[in-house]
Amino acid sequence: MPFAPIAKNVATMAVQPNLLDYERIRADFSWEEARAALDGLQGGGMNIAHEAVDRHARGPLHDRAAIRFLGKDGTLTPLTYGELQARSNRFAHLLGQLGVLPGERIFWLAGRSLLLYAAFFGTLKHRSVFCPLFAAFGPEPIAQRLERGNARVLVTTERQYSKKIKPLLDRLPELRCILLVDVDADIDQRVRALPSLLQGCSEQFTIPPTDPEDRAILHFTSGTTGMPKGAVHVHNAVLTHFITGRYVLDLHPDDIFWCTADPGWVTGTSYGIIAPLLHGVTTIVDEADFDAERWYRILAEQRVTVWYTAPTAIRMLMRTPDTLRQRYDLSALRLVHSVGEPLNPEAVLWGQRVLGLPIHDNWWQTETGGIMVANYAALEIRPGSMGKPLPGIEAAIVTRLDADTVRIEGAEVEGELALRRGWPSMFRAYLHDEQRYHKCFVGDWYLTGDLARRDADGYYWFVGRADDIIKTAGHMVGPFEVESSLMEHPAVAEAGVIGKPEPTIGEIVKAFVVLKPGFTASEPLRQELIGFGRTRLGSAVAPKELEFIDNLPKTRSGKIMRRLLKARELGLPIGDTSTLEGSES
Ligand code: AMP
Repeated sequence: MPFAPIAKNVATMAVQPNLLDYERIRADFSWEEARAALDGLQGGGMNIAHEAVDRHARGPLHDRAAIRFLGKDGTLTPLTYGELQARSNRFAHLLGQLGVLPGERIFWLAGRSLLLYAAFFGTLKHRSVFCPLFAAFGPEPIAQRLERGNARVLVTTERQYSKKIKPLLDRLPELRCILLVDVDADIDQRVRALPSLLQGCSEQFTIPPTDPEDRAILHFTSGTTGMPKGAVHVHNAVLTHFITGRYVLDLHPDDIFWCTADPGWVTGTSYGIIAPLLHGVTTIVDEADFDAERWYRILAEQRVTVWYTAPTAIRMLMRTPDTLRQRYDLSALRLVHSVGEPLNPEAVLWGQRVLGLPIHDNWWQTETGGIMVANYAALEIRPGSMGKPLPGIEAAIVTRLDADTVRIEGAEVEGELALRRGWPSMFRAYLHDEQRYHKCFVGDWYLTGDLARRDADGYYWFVGRADDIIKTAGHMVGPFEVESSLMEHPAVAEAGVIGKPEPTIGEIVKAFVVLKPGFTASEPLRQELIGFGRTRLGSAVAPKELEFIDNLPKTRSGKIMRRLLKARELGLPIGDTSTLEGSES
C-alpha cells in the first residue's frame, strides 16, 4: 500500500454516519429488515415509484423539493414530491391511453429534463419497463438498442428525432409511438407532442399490484462480442438502492444530494433518480455538461452535502488551479463519492487537500444494479482501494476452474471479482440472451468480468477488466460494436479496436484498420474514417485515434486478439500467443 490510509474521526463529523460499526451491521444485516423499512404496496407487492415518490407525497414531505433542476440558462426550477407524484401519474395514464401494456418498453433519449422524472416514475407506475439511452449516441447504437429492446414508445426531443430517429423508422416497426418533449403539436399519428398529451391526463392514479419480480428497468451495456446486452432489473432492486443510499451515500433527511451521472447510464437512474428520492432528500439535476467553474458554483450555491461523481470529472477538476476552488464556499459538503472507473490514489488525496474531504471510491456495474463494494463515511480509506462489500453482499476473489466450479482465493491473490448470487438488484436476464446470462454464473457466484484482489483486512483493489471492454470517460464501449460500424465503410476490410490508456478520461478508443484491396492508406482517408465513426456511433463511442495496419492478429478460430494489439501499442510484452493464427503448435 504505497499511500498511507486516511483515518476517520467520527467525533469531529457534523453528522453521525449511518454505518458506524461496519462489522456489526454486516453481521446483523438482513434483506428482510431492509424490506420492512419500506412501505410495500397496499395489498402486497413492491413498486419503485411508490417507495421513491408516492410514499413521500402522501406524507409530510409533500411540499419538499424532490428535485432542483438547474437549466443551462441559469434558471432553477424546483419540483416537489407532490408535483412529481401528479406528473408521473399523468404519464402513467398516458401510457394506458396509448395502449401500452405492462412489460412493454419505454425508451428515453432526451438527456436531462424535468420530464425525465415524470416519464421514469410514470412508466414504473404503469408497470412498463424504462430504458434510458445516452443522448450523445449516434444513430447506429440507438437503432441497435431500440431494435434489440423491442421499443414500444420512444420519448425524445425534436432535434434527436429529426437528426437520428427519422431515418431509422423503417427499421423499427415495433416502435409505435414517438413522444417529443419539446413540440406543441403532433407531427403525425406516430410522432406526438408529449406536453399537450400530458395536459389531458388525470393527476390521480393508483399503482396496480406489482410483483417485486416484475421487470422495471432495462439498461444496455456493451459486450466484447455481439451487440450490446440488455440487463433487466426488477422492482425489488429498490432494496439495494435504499440500503446503499443509507450506508454508502449516507443520506440523512436534510441532505442536498448531487449525482452528476448522465441519465443514459445506470448510475444516472439508480443514484441520479431512485436512491436519493427513496430517502426523501432533495436532489440536484444540472442540465449542462461538465464545466469546472459551474460545478464548483453549484456545489457552493446549492449547499450540496453529498456529492456522487466520477474519476474523469475529478481528474478534470484536478487540472484546474486550486485558486478556482478557493473562490467557492464548499462548507456544506460532507461526503464525496466516485464510481465508474479506477480512482487514482492521487485523486483521493487531492480531494482531501483541495475539497477538504477525501473521495470515497465505490464499485459496481450495470449488472449489479447498485453499489456492491464501497468506502464508507466512518471507515478508514485506503487510497486506491474500492473499499469493502456492502452489508448484505458477499464478495470473493475467485478463479474459474470449469463451467461449474470456482476456487475461492485468499488474501492478496489476484482473480476475478465475484458476488454470491441473489441480492435484490441483481440483473435477472440479458434480454433475448439466456445463454449469455447463464454464462455469467458459476455455481452460486456471479462473475463480474473484473480482476481484483482483496487485502488481509478485507479491502478490495481493482486490477483491470478480464475482457476487452473499454472504459472511456466512464462509458463502456464494446470493441465489437465499433469494429462492426467501421467495417460498413467501403474502404475497410477489417478493424480491431482497443482502449488506449489516457490520463484524464482513463482510456481512449483506438482503432486499427486493414484496408480493402484498391484503397491506400492516407491522412485524408484516416480523417474520413474518424468522421465516419463519429457520425454513425456518436462522439462518446467513436474512435479518437485510427491507425492503418496490414493484418490484424487473430486466433486460429479467427477472433481478433485485441490483447496483442494493445500490447503492441503500449510496447508491452505480448504474453501467451499459442492461439495466434500462424503460430507453432
Ligand atoms: P458499467 O456497467 O458501465 O457501470 O461499468 C462497470 C464497470 O466499470 C466495472 O465492471 C468496472 O470494470 C468499471 N468500474 C466501475 N466502478 C469502478 C471502480 N470504482 N474502480 C474500477 N473500475 C470500476
